[in-house]
Amino acid sequence: MSAPWPCGPRRVLVVGVDGVRLDLLPELHTPHLDGVAGAGFLARVEVDEATPTMSGPCWATITTGVGVAKHGVFGNHLGGNRLDVFPDFTTRLAAVHRRRTFAAGGWEPLFLARSGGPLFAAPGRLSYIAPLADTPEAWEECDERVTAEAEYVLGRSDDDPQASFVYLGAADETAHFLGCGEEYRRSVEAADRRLGRLLAAVRGRASYPDEEWTVIVVTDHGHVPAGGHGGRSELERTAWIAACGPGIVPGGPVRPPHHTDVAAHVYAALEIVPDPHWTLDGRPFTAAPEPAPVPASGPVPVPAG
Ligand SMILES: [Zn+2]
Repeated sequence: MSAPWPCGPRRVLVVGVDGVRLDLLPELHTPHLDGVAGAGFLARVEVDEATPTMSGPCWATITTGVGVAKHGVFGNHLGGNRLDVFPDFTTRLAAVHRRRTFAAGGWEPLFLARSGGPLFAAPGRLSYIAPLADTPEAWEECDERVTAEAEYVLGRSDDDPQASFVYLGAADETAHFLGCGEEYRRSVEAADRRLGRLLAAVRGRASYPDEEWTVIVVTDHGHVPAGGHGGRSELERTAWIAACGPGIVPGGPVRPPHHTDVAAHVYAALEIVPDPHWTLDGRPFTAAPEPAPVPASGPVPVPAG
């Protein structure tokens, strides 16, 4: 189904930060995430029983809006998946709805035909930036370059993706190498600074005053204290979602969110009614509002953090 305005002013940015522990956030300096949470919500997400606490299945669930029983990604090798039937939102929006979409990041299975990927099969624009080594330092540099690329794309009005996904992987890599200590905490704070740059790029758009942006920040799973995940401990099963934008009332969603809700909310934010044949498992964080005249105060601004 088509939206009232195919090239309308709604825009969505999803920032995926891999492996960030919810329990540590209160101790960390993350003003930009706090800004999103303050303008909307930050809520715990339980990785459900059917889903391994691994990046592949969790990101597939987040970006497709269906669970592992449908998308068929059960590990970090994505082979045997059914992503052709249950595509990620950047691919579906580009193919079915002719929307400009964008996906950027540095983890191969999400972006390349490697390890059974890609998850992002055919967004309108795709930027894969390879880390030069499998080390925390190389991943920080990778995330820097991913952020710079996304700043460039998001800040322009000509490419103008209506739905974007930006992946930041350094914090997860750091936890795997060094555990959830000081280096990990600094890496999560660096990811927050990168989130801040992305939000600033959005706010700096020439057309920003006429647009209504939804921002979703999401992590896929947690980590045990020594670094690592894949098991069923509470630390590993605990993920989170923060979001703000039209239809999201500051103070919290009405029910605990699930990873499948991210893609469902992306569609709702763009005022697209999902085809029942998509069999989405998720629901928008809140019911999408009816299109209404822009109030005198104008669109809800993206938080300055
Ligand atoms: Zn992960």
